[in-house]
Amino acid sequence: MAGNSSTCGADLLGKSANELRAFTESHGEPAYRGAQIYHALYSERRFEFSAMTNLPAALRERLSREAAIALPKVLRRYRSADGTVRYVLALAESERKGGLGKPATIETVFMPEEKRQTICISTQAGCAVDCHFCLTATLGLIRNLSAGEIIGQVLVALEDNQAALKPQTNVVLMGQGEPLLNYEAVMAMLRILLDPNGMAISPKHVTLSTSGIVPGIEKLSQEKVRPKLAISLNASSNEQRDEIMPINRKYPMEALLDACRRYPLRPWERLTFEYVLLGGFNDSPEDARRVVKLLSNLRAKVNLIPWNPGELPYEKPDPERIETFRKILADKGLPVFVRYSRGQDVMAACGQLALLESAAPSSSVAHISPAI
Ligand code: SF4
Repeated sequence: MAGNSSTCGADLLGKSANELRAFTESHGEPAYRGAQIYHALYSERRFEFSAMTNLPAALRERLSREAAIALPKVLRRYRSADGTVRYVLALAESERKGGLGKPATIETVFMPEEKRQTICISTQAGCAVDCHFCLTATLGLIRNLSAGEIIGQVLVALEDNQAALKPQTNVVLMGQGEPLLNYEAVMAMLRILLDPNGMAISPKHVTLSTSGIVPGIEKLSQEKVRPKLAISLNASSNEQRDEIMPINRKYPMEALLDACRRYPLRPWERLTFEYVLLGGFNDSPEDARRVVKLLSNLRAKVNLIPWNPGELPYEKPDPERIETFRKILADKGLPVFVRYSRGQDVMAACGQLALLESAAPSSSVAHISPAI
């Protein structure tokens, strides 16, 4: 496992090609050296300056003294029988715009499949959004992550599973935090992730999931480089959504779905709507029919996520009701999939690792949204 390449100096992780060019120039080196660091770091995934063989030896040595690549540190790994690895990562105190970022603990999940791997990453430590089915909500917002801390999770997961990597990597921004409430850092990270000269992941393989922050969706729609968009819907009416997602009072379903209708989809793209099925609450056939109506005129697909019973007072949905719900959507031509959380034997339910970590004296807390 690669660690920090150095413990002192400017942290280069999360910097764009332009920022790295400016960095090398400010150190009296040609700008193209910055582009070479960018290539070595994100494209070749070299985390020690000494391994950046595209740089002259004297520069490598100087960088080792004067700069750092501060990857998040793996505090714990939980391996599931299905191959899923859930990481608890420690983020150090760091300097950032607006002051010092406090130390924090977050979660990242690596899910191997036959032909690809999916990495679920966090964008904030804690979350201020307060969805009632999510244990992270109980933490409140601890702090925003920097672009380096967000992309660092992808790099750590890839590095730690290097021997078993499949050709395709999917990245989902569905871990702890609301990505659209940490907009600038998330976009800075996405520009590196989606850059053909950076990590070169296709926008078709990166999904940002939001609880429905309408101004953020509108802002994202203007971006030249953007991932796919998923909306955490989870209800079939405003009353129901108000009850489990108080953010709905600020951005009610009409405003949210209007923003979705205006969202400029690329020819290959559909919006994903995630719907956590909470037994006896939002899983009736009437709910399904209302969802069909809500999503009419949208190029959409729906992921149904049966509730994974845990610490929160919701019921597991009945398998027959899941199937009836699915069928009502499918019969109306809506692409619909039932997704079960991966890694159920290593605490897959939302926030379970958070609880465990919060019980540990030296660490802060982290969570994974159920919508993966
Ligand atoms: S589900 Fe996502 S947006 Fe809602 S409280 Fe949890 S982390 Fe925040």
